[in-house]
Amino acid sequence: MFKYDYYRAGTLDEVSEILARHQGKARIVAGGTDIMVQIREKDKRWEDLECLLDLTFLESELRYIREEGNQIHIGALSTHTDLERSEIIKKWIPFLGKAASTVGSPQIRNRGTIGGSICNASPAADPLTPLIALEAKVVIHGKAGEREMGLKEFYLSQGKVDLNEDEFLKEFVVEKLPEGAVTEFVKLGRRKALAISRLNVSVVLMLDKEGSISYARIAPGCIFRTPDRVETAEELLIGKKPSEELWKEAGKEVSDEMIRRTGIRWSTEYKQPAVEAIVEDALAQAAEMIG
Ligand SMILES: Cc1cc2nc3c(=O)[nH]c(=O)nc-3n(C[C@H](O)[C@H](O)[C@H](O)COP(=O)(O)OP(=O)(O)OC[C@H]3O[C@@H](n4cnc5c(N)ncnc54)[C@H](O)[C@@H]3O)c2cc1C
Repeated sequence: MFKYDYYRAGTLDEVSEILARHQGKARIVAGGTDIMVQIREKDKRWEDLECLLDLTFLESELRYIREEGNQIHIGALSTHTDLERSEIIKKWIPFLGKAASTVGSPQIRNRGTIGGSICNASPAADPLTPLIALEAKVVIHGKAGEREMGLKEFYLSQGKVDLNEDEFLKEFVVEKLPEGAVTEFVKLGRRKALAISRLNVSVVLMLDKEGSISYARIAPGCIFRTPDRVETAEELLIGKKPSEELWKEAGKEVSDEMIRRTGIRWSTEYKQPAVEAIVEDALAQAAEMIG
């Protein structure tokens, strides 16, 4: 059994002070749906844990979803249920709400936060691919103040994000999608209930007045070492008319890119057709929304 202290902080600066004092041996707990499971399973990462710092008492500072001009700001303590229900997200970036709605069970969605989801740095986190497709930025709070960086750069490797010892994630900032853009999130899990993705994909599509694709984003999950879009597949769509054949080509390009980046692995036999199929499905479903 690991033994550690439990702290609450009254302000954002106090969080950073406590984190700094423990020099990497303090850890934030938000919803606790990842870290409490890991501690219970005696995950070696938490052997030296001196304290758990409960962020939930800072809800008034960190739990919000708001529009500011062309941007949407999402506080780190926003839960999956908050994302799923937000009218702002439904209107401007609906695939983020859809991804959140597929996380675990209602209990997990009510507790689990978007900050925890991203800082746990699992490649299978469902909200990750819509945020990557949107080129989200993260705002980080530390003793020296705040800094901002791209989510893609923030995610260093599985289980590791770019935070110094005194820092924590404060919020996500995304640009609203252009009016007329449609989005889709498709997830392939091991089983229907409580399924953590084996693969997922987020896509955005927009057509011009002539009915050709003028804007495309494809961000697949769980296939690269760090999350990324597949720009070659996006470029392939631009200027073309929607068609089943085109979705197939894009799916093939995403799976080819997976092999170019990661080589052939034991899982390739399963992943290659599965990636092609979910990309194709996501694009076809998005296109249906355009009508
Ligand atoms: C039964 C079950 C089913 C699940 N199903 C899914 C699923 O389908 N899809 C999915 O994506 N996930 C799933 N999860 C994983 C989990 O629920 C999510 O990742 C959740 O969003 C984590 O958020 P949290 O607030 O509970 O994180 P916590 O457990 O509180 O924290 C997770 C990690 O992030 C750190 N952290 C948290 N907040 C911050 C912050 N603001 N700044 C810096 N570090 C921070 C913590 O120190 C910890 O290391 C499931 C979990 C369970 C137990």
